Amino acid sequence: MTIGIVGAGQLGRMLALAGYPLGLDFLCLDPARDAPAGQVAPLLTGAFTDRALLAELARRCEVVTFDWENVPVASLRAMQRGARSARIAPPVAALACGQDRVSEKRLFAQLAIPTTRWRAVDSRGELDAAVAALGLPGVLKTRRFGYDGKGQALLRTRADAARAFERLGNAPLLYEEWVSFDCEVSVIGARGARAEVVVYPLCGNVHGAGILRMTCAPYGPRGWQQQAERYLRRVLAHFGYRGILTLEFFVRAGKLIANEMAPRVHNSGHWTIEGAATSQFENHLRAILGLPLGSTRALGHSAMINLIGRIPPRARLLALEGVHLHDYGKQPRPGRKVGHCTVVEPTAARRDARARRLAAKLAAGLRIP
Ligand code: AMP
Repeated sequence: MTIGIVGAGQLGRMLALAGYPLGLDFLCLDPARDAPAGQVAPLLTGAFTDRALLAELARRCEVVTFDWENVPVASLRAMQRGARSARIAPPVAALACGQDRVSEKRLFAQLAIPTTRWRAVDSRGELDAAVAALGLPGVLKTRRFGYDGKGQALLRTRADAARAFERLGNAPLLYEEWVSFDCEVSVIGARGARAEVVVYPLCGNVHGAGILRMTCAPYGPRGWQQQAERYLRRVLAHFGYRGILTLEFFVRAGKLIANEMAPRVHNSGHWTIEGAATSQFENHLRAILGLPLGSTRALGHSAMINLIGRIPPRARLLALEGVHLHDYGKQPRPGRKVGHCTVVEPTAARRDARARRLAAKLAAGLRIP
């Protein structure tokens, strides 16, 4: 049975690696010849809008999924309408909603999921009005194509607003209130063919310059998990969802405030490969194929640290007992996620101490005394 993946990044790669033990085959589509998933699975090289390649994917695959949130919605809809109509999961409507920060915020409001206060901004005048209404500081974001902190500006003063609008103002924007959060968390869950839902323990996330640096899981008190699960289930039910869905939140004074959703496996869920009974990648495949969902039970206390820019000396990293390395096979580049490593410990205290030491070593170029 062959699964099609539109996008062949590291998420597609980890999906394929999770699917091989289940006897699944994969076929990916990506414009980059050296895409990470293309190194472990057959790859159709071409644009995401290439109708002939999309039709080939639909013809050769039982089900088609995606590993990137900016895959053109029109391409997937064309595959659904094609002669050999493709079965696509998660739903294309969820992808479309997640591609536009305004649609996402409206959905959260409709489902009574708290968000920060926000305004859509299409002109300099609307930005001034939004700043007057919501105050400073705030964040100006492009509605579309933002990821890893790109397409964003923090506004502290009115002069910042003028400069940020000059930089970002040729695309539709959104201005939102700055949340002075206590921490950031994400919840990841899967919904299967019979509307059954499984949810992973909450992930605690640390970002730097808009990029996820570290995730610890399980994280936070029971009440946070319950709030997160309640909100996640509302979004899953709304879309009649199939597959893995992620919601990201700010936590302020014990209350979860939704920031964004990702209709796919997520960087903050990479710890589940070694740290949970079933990984997010395997559960995504089980969900989209209509197979029974696997247990999301944590096997210990995990920390996942992203490797950004380049992979540190492999032998030194692997000399540290219990460190699991994932190298995505990408060319080094500043600010690029090229891999991650995970540790799983029996207690939260040991995990936290271990993660702190590991993060410090990585920051120091892994000079091990
Ligand atoms: P995003 O692309 O919206 O996920 O933003 C990336 C990161 O920037 C978030 O995970 C936060 O760390 C920070 N951030 C974004 N929006 C806000 C906000 N309104 N208030 C505080 N921090 C924010």
